[in-house]
Amino acid sequence: MKSESWGIVGGGIMGITLALRLSEMGYKVTLFEAAPELGGLVSSWKMNDVEWDKFYHVILLSDFKTRDLLKQVGLEDKIEWVETKTGFYMNGKLYSMSDTVEFLKFPTLNLIDKFRLGLTILVASRIKNWKRLEKIPVTDWLQRWSGKNTFQKVWLPLLRAKLGDSYTKTSAVFIWATIQRLYGARRSGLKKEMFGYLPGGYKRIVSALKDKLISRGVQIHTGYAAREITSGPASKPVIHFAANEPMEFDKVISTLPAGLSAKLCTGLTVKEIKKLEGIEYLGVICVAVLLNKPISNFYITNITDSWVPFTGVIEMSALVDKKYFGNNALVYLPKYVSPYDPLFNYSDEEIKKFFLSNFKKMYPWLTDENIKFAGVARAKHVITVLTESYSRNLPDVATTIPGVYIINTAYIQDGTLNVNETIKVADDKLAQIMA
Ligand SMILES: Cc1cc2nc3c(=O)[nH]c(=O)nc-3n(C[C@H](O)[C@H](O)[C@H](O)COP(=O)(O)OP(=O)(O)OC[C@H]3O[C@@H](n4cnc5c(N)ncnc54)[C@H](O)[C@@H]3O)c2cc1C
Repeated sequence: MKSESWGIVGGGIMGITLALRLSEMGYKVTLFEAAPELGGLVSSWKMNDVEWDKFYHVILLSDFKTRDLLKQVGLEDKIEWVETKTGFYMNGKLYSMSDTVEFLKFPTLNLIDKFRLGLTILVASRIKNWKRLEKIPVTDWLQRWSGKNTFQKVWLPLLRAKLGDSYTKTSAVFIWATIQRLYGARRSGLKKEMFGYLPGGYKRIVSALKDKLISRGVQIHTGYAAREITSGPASKPVIHFAANEPMEFDKVISTLPAGLSAKLCTGLTVKEIKKLEGIEYLGVICVAVLLNKPISNFYITNITDSWVPFTGVIEMSALVDKKYFGNNALVYLPKYVSPYDPLFNYSDEEIKKFFLSNFKKMYPWLTDENIKFAGVARAKHVITVLTESYSRNLPDVATTIPGVYIINTAYIQDGTLNVNETIKVADDKLAQIMA
């Protein structure tokens, strides 16, 4: 084993992957997680007797990094692959939008609009040089290819739902990355677009990864909330904790969101702080609902009606076999909002009431009798807003504090937030550091 020691702050997928890779390189690694369990955004909770992810997660066929990681812990061949359907909720009605025929039947758009919508998706899926899209606002790019009518009727409501008011600052890379992810499997020669999940959910994945880390000698400290990272007397980084003794390492990586990392690391330059704090995030408030019967056969239902307070409806049980949910249906109602949105000040009960009353308006046959469980999960710093020239404004992962690095999902500059991209950032940035 190499003598150099590494401390990693944050036990989500990023921290776990970094810890695994560094331990494979032969370093002494210690992983710190503030919560009682590893997992972060992929952690699970109990909904009555059902334990599943707090936030919905799906694996794509083209998620090769995720699948490789699962292979390492013997779980890749346990993934169940399912063909799913997509719905659209528009003007108070639910439509299926899962194939070309349904697309052509789709109301409110004329044939030319439909052609331009299809063309927009085709053009985006063909673009390789995403950097030039960083200079174009997403609204301009979509109007250019789809035309005003389709933009107003389809794209604008979807942008608003997904990005809140931040859509005005977002570059065309956002829509490019979204389309690339959905078409990635087809581009890579895989015939069908299928979605996958692991029976047991991410809890099973995190548990297997934890065992792997332990078997490789990684020290895992949960319930350790880092309070500060400083440069110690020997110019080595020291992690200070809210309730535990400080620890010194040769190298330390913070995987926390940019602004939180800036607050954590004492001694950064004004320029570094400005860059880190300049990265804008969206948070998510997500209501998970267990129902005694399904609401549709769509995994995703996109929503264009602005009165609906959530971004979309994700019916997990349209993908995952209901036997894993005690024969219930599991539905997520996510809303992406700024971390400063007043909704974050509402209690769980208030959010549930607000979301569920609108959920029942969307599906009028639903009653309280059908709802077996409802819970609210929230996270303030989830997705970075891909603003104009985003990649050029990112700070270096090596900070000016000797031995201190910041590696987080803000480095996903040409993709959407997902586990595959998270692992990719971990690998790319580690390679950069080692070089
Ligand atoms: C609603 C939603 C849906 C998603 N859907 C998908 C999907 O379908 N497919 C997919 O692949 N991905 C999906 N993702 C994305 C996926 O969850 C993320 O890419 C991944 O979990 C990011 O991991 P991370 O380690 O970067 O961040 P996090 O999971 O946020 O990890 C950061 C960790 O740091 C810990 N921490 C915070 N402060 C401290 C401190 N002071 N000291 C120590 N530890 C601290 C936190 O507790 C947390 O565990 C989804 C995410 C959300 C929110």
